[in-house]
Amino acid sequence: MARPTVAEIRLSALRHNVHAIRALLPQDVGLLCIVKANAYGHGALSVARALEAEGARMLGVATVEEGVELREGGIRLPVVVLGGVDPPQAAEAHDHGLSAALFDPGQIGYLARAAETAGRPFPVHVKVDTGMGRLGLLPREAFEAARRIASIPALRMEGWMTHLSSADGPAAADREYTAAQLATFRGMLPDVRKAFGDGVAVHALNSAGILRFRDEPFDLVRPGIALYGCSPLPPGDALPDLRPVMRIVTKVLSLKELPAGHAVSYGRRYRCDGARRIAVVPIGYADGYRRALTGHARMSVYGHPVPVAGTVCMDHTMIDVTGVPGVAIGTDVEVMGEASMGAEEMARICGTIPYEILVQVGRRIPRVTVD
Ligand SMILES: *Cc1c(COP(=O)(O)O)cnc(C)c1O
Repeated sequence: MARPTVAEIRLSALRHNVHAIRALLPQDVGLLCIVKANAYGHGALSVARALEAEGARMLGVATVEEGVELREGGIRLPVVVLGGVDPPQAAEAHDHGLSAALFDPGQIGYLARAAETAGRPFPVHVKVDTGMGRLGLLPREAFEAARRIASIPALRMEGWMTHLSSADGPAAADREYTAAQLATFRGMLPDVRKAFGDGVAVHALNSAGILRFRDEPFDLVRPGIALYGCSPLPPGDALPDLRPVMRIVTKVLSLKELPAGHAVSYGRRYRCDGARRIAVVPIGYADGYRRALTGHARMSVYGHPVPVAGTVCMDHTMIDVTGVPGVAIGTDVEVMGEASMGAEEMARICGTIPYEILVQVGRRIPRVTVD
């Protein structure tokens, strides 16, 4: 028997979120669904299969290894390696039919050589830095690269992209910056279309971009966090109805009555202010249940919110179930989910973003798909 701590991956919620995102966009806009980092911790293959069945146009991963995992699992959609393809991985990426983000002129030569020996062109997405300051060719370099790519039969221009740095930002300055990024990008498109026609897929919008800047969605959009049911926007922003895909559950491992004054966990940060029923659950910071949740988080038992009692340990956390009827060893406990606490609220407590909470759900927690 496995440990009872599992992450349920609710594919019906994922499908719901796909439809909610689609409903915001014109019908002809395709989805390039981002499944990097093991689909934000949800399990890349099962998520990718569900997205393929839902009609996603392409998938995006960060690394060649992530792309290879999808191919070995039978995924047929175009898969874009957003982090680019290194020289040592070029042949492997091409063999697996992956597409490469191209953000450095030096990548043109070795990607072409990998494809020449195989006799089938290497699909590339030229990544333009319109203000993100991370990966991407500056606009002038991008045109030079595009001219070279057009002259090399071993390369095929599959996409033309940029990435927004501030679409989620709350300030007017963030909106202006994003609008300027999009204006720079838009300004390049007539020349891109002239050189490559409609066959090149133009894309720019991440989840926050889809929510806030969708009057200009281009050919494809690139949702990540919204697929998984979390908002990239500050609390209070109007949102479509997104449903969290991941729910973490476990079971009570040990249960006892502690007398008034008894301490709980490392550092004695919790002391029973009367007789308390304290349950131990098998999840801790080694599973991604952050130590910073100590003193702030709730779990849920039979629908009752129950506070975490004392310091979160590496493998265990204590909860105060005093007054909740019927709790016993083996009782179900929801650790993350609608009845307890979502990734957004955990992120706020921990001073981070829900992305980090989701991708850090530990390898020790099996992902179990449910419908
Ligand atoms: C991760 C990523 C996305 C998705 O971002 P979300 O904020 O999760 O929607 C889109 N595009 C690129 C290039 C990315 O790296």
